[in-house]
Parts: sequence; C-alpha cells; structure tokens
Amino acid sequence: MNRRDFIAASAAAAAVGESAPRLAAQGGAPVRGTPLHGNFWGVQYYDGQERQMVLDVLETGRPFRWYGPGKPPDKVAALEKEFAARMQTKYALAVTSGTAALQCAMAACGIGPGDEVILPSWTWYSCFNAVVLAGALPVCAEIDETFNLDPSDIERHITPATKLIMAVHLQGNPADMDSIMAVARKHHIRVLEDCSQSVGASYKGHPLGSMGDLAICSMQANKTITAGEGGAVYSSDPVLFERAARFHDIGTLREPFLKNLGEPRTAAFIGTNFRMSEFTGGVLLSQLRKLDRIVGDVRTNAQRVYKGIADLPGLQLRKLPDPAGELGTGVYIDFKTKERKMKFLAMMKAENVPGNGPSGSVILPIDKLIESKVTAHPAWPSFNTPRGKAIQYGAACCPKTIDIINRFGGVLMDPKYTKKDCDDVVAAIRKVYPAVMQA
Ligand SMILES: *Cc1c(COP(=O)(O)O)cnc(C)c1O
Repeated sequence: MNRRDFIAASAAAAAVGESAPRLAAQGGAPVRGTPLHGNFWGVQYYDGQERQMVLDVLETGRPFRWYGPGKPPDKVAALEKEFAARMQTKYALAVTSGTAALQCAMAACGIGPGDEVILPSWTWYSCFNAVVLAGALPVCAEIDETFNLDPSDIERHITPATKLIMAVHLQGNPADMDSIMAVARKHHIRVLEDCSQSVGASYKGHPLGSMGDLAICSMQANKTITAGEGGAVYSSDPVLFERAARFHDIGTLREPFLKNLGEPRTAAFIGTNFRMSEFTGGVLLSQLRKLDRIVGDVRTNAQRVYKGIADLPGLQLRKLPDPAGELGTGVYIDFKTKERKMKFLAMMKAENVPGNGPSGSVILPIDKLIESKVTAHPAWPSFNTPRGKAIQYGAACCPKTIDIINRFGGVLMDPKYTKKDCDDVVAAIRKVYPAVMQA
C-alpha cells in the first residue's frame, strides 16, 4: 500500500469508528436476509403491450416481415423507423441478433481477407468473431478506466491494412468518443459503435450509435430491451446501410428500403438471411417505446447509490466520459489491487449484496480459443496471411486491460430495484469498504 492509499484507508476506518457493525464475513448480521439480485431488464417491463403485439401476429397470420395475407406486415418496419428516430440516425435495420448485426456491419464496410480491425481487449466474443468470420484479422487494443477502448492505445495498432475501429460501449458506459473519433478521422479509418450493452445511453447529448460511421446493438435477453433475441444495424450513411441491408437479406434490396434510400447506390452481392420475424419486431417495438422509462429507472437507482457512497474516503469510481449519459448498469470502484477486489466480492456476498467482477465481457486475448486462433476451416484467411500467422494474442498484448479488470469491483444495478434495495447496496458498500481498504 502506498502512502496515499494508507491515509485513505486509515481515514475510512476512522470515519466508521467504534460503531462499526460487525461484517457478515466475520459472523455479524448481513445487510440483507436474502441475496439481492437483478433480472432481465426488458422482460420486467413486459405487459399487455407486448402481449397484444404477439397476439396480433398470431391472429393475422403475418409472421414474415415482407408479405402475408391481408394488409402488409408492419411491425419490423415500424421498429426500424422508431429506432432510427430514437438513435438519431437516418436508417436502421432490424436483424436477428447483435452478432448478426456485427456481421452485417463487416459486410457494409467491405471488411475481408487482408484487412485489420482494431477492437478493445475487453468485450464480447461476437466482436472478435465477426471480424474473423469476415476473413479479416482482429487486433486487440487496451481498455482504460472507462472499461472501454483506450483512445491512447489505438494509434500504435494502426497499419495500412487497418479498415475499422470498434468502439464498444460496455456496461452502460459510453466510450470516450471525442478522442476515439479524433484518432480515427486523422487516419481516415471508419468507426463502428457497438452499443449492445448500452442501448439508451448517450454521450454529450448524442445517442450512442449516432457518432461513428455506423452502429450495431443487440436486443438479446441480457440487454436493455429484449425479445429474447434481436439486433440492429444503424447509420446515417446510405451506402453502408444499403450494403448491410443487402447482406442481411441474401443480397437483395426490398422495395421499402429502396424507397427510403431513393436509389440503389451499390451493386448486389451475395448475402445471408438475418431477417427479423414480426413476432420479434412486435415485442421489440413495444419495448422500444418503454426504453426511456427503463433507462430513467436504472439511472435513478444508480444515482441513489453513487450519492450514498460519494463521501467514502479515497473513493475512486470507474471513469465516466459523460456521467449524465451513462445507464448506471453497474457502480464500480477501483480497489487498486486484485486482492482487495476479491476481498470486496467475498465480503459483499456475505452481506447478501453480491458484488460484480466486472462481467458480461471477456478479456479476449487470454481466452483459450482466441489464443489458439482456431477457425471452422484450417485454410480460413484470417490467420493464414503472414501478419495473421505472426500475430500473438495472450496476456502480453493487454497487461493494462488485465490490471483494470482485476482491480475494479462493484455492484450491478437493476431498473426494478426498490429504494430499499438501493439503500442496501449503499449500506453494504459502506460497511465493507473500510475493511477492504485497510487490507
Ligand atoms: C451481447 C453482445 C453482442 C452480441 O449480441 P447477441 O445478440 O448476443 O448476438 C455483441 N457485442 C456486445 C458488446 C454484446 O454485449
């Protein structure tokens, strides 16, 4: 422990003083009788509206977005229109998942064999996989204390082959977009925003996804709004949108898209099928109309916790490039060492307010599958170019990321937590923090 930490820890201990309640980890009464746990956010808001959407599809017999009996199906189309409006982009394309959306984004940007894509070392597998499935090479950069791409670690990874930078907004917190865009623009490289874990969040007043060249999100069950599965590609660039739309629908561009775009701008090319069904579209349309309520609820809860712990001595939270824009998915503290973080997690568990490690992403370079560069076919281009053969993943390529994920710990929030739940989070952190910082 350095001198500054020691003073902070001593002050923390003194602040609690004689009246410190005994830690549950040491036999005292826990803050709660039963463990606090959240649930799928969007699912907790399901009501008659989602039900009506599903029933409507069943009763009209129009589960396919492009045609059916009677009047044309309209749910996926309405979702795309309202989603684009909410995210302040010109176009939005509904697809079957966030992973599918990433694959569409790769096709939109023309990413393929010989190309390189820079992505954060801490993110979800799909980001890495989409690059590999396009035949291109993923290059992992460090994260910073936002848990997102470190803008100062991008430049050293740029080569003449770099075609795209993935800015992933993880666990509700916007990445430092001003700095990321500045590096990207300087080198004339496109930026893809992956908003999967931050749907509804914003950066300096801009909805996430509206600042880069294009964006994707997931609407899988763990994300802000959900139909179990689902995703979107969104952009204000008509060429990128057209290419994504073609890729998601076996290369075709259906009449309604053409009408919206005015004219086709690219030749057809071979695509796949990531079309969304009307069932999914209907549920997601209902969910989208509740997005601001869900976001408001979780922000209110996170604010209550931030406020309740703000005076803890020496407290250092996760870096928030725009505190007003983040969702408040989790409240994270820098414990400076892994040992202290682990102690925090054990003590919080005993208090029945389980901590979080952080989760929901992986340190990609140290994942066994990624380290071994295994693909479905041994001749797959990604790792068969000279550069692909030479690139090494593993711990040596992201020491800063590993350190940050090791030393931060926190508590996940939930939009449906009651005031009492939030106060329990505050009480548990206040109870264990002095003991953790003393260690
Ligand atoms: C969940 C997630 C995805 C993938 O979305 P799916 O809908 O599960 O395919 C992609 N990127 C990030 C950052 C995610 O969290």
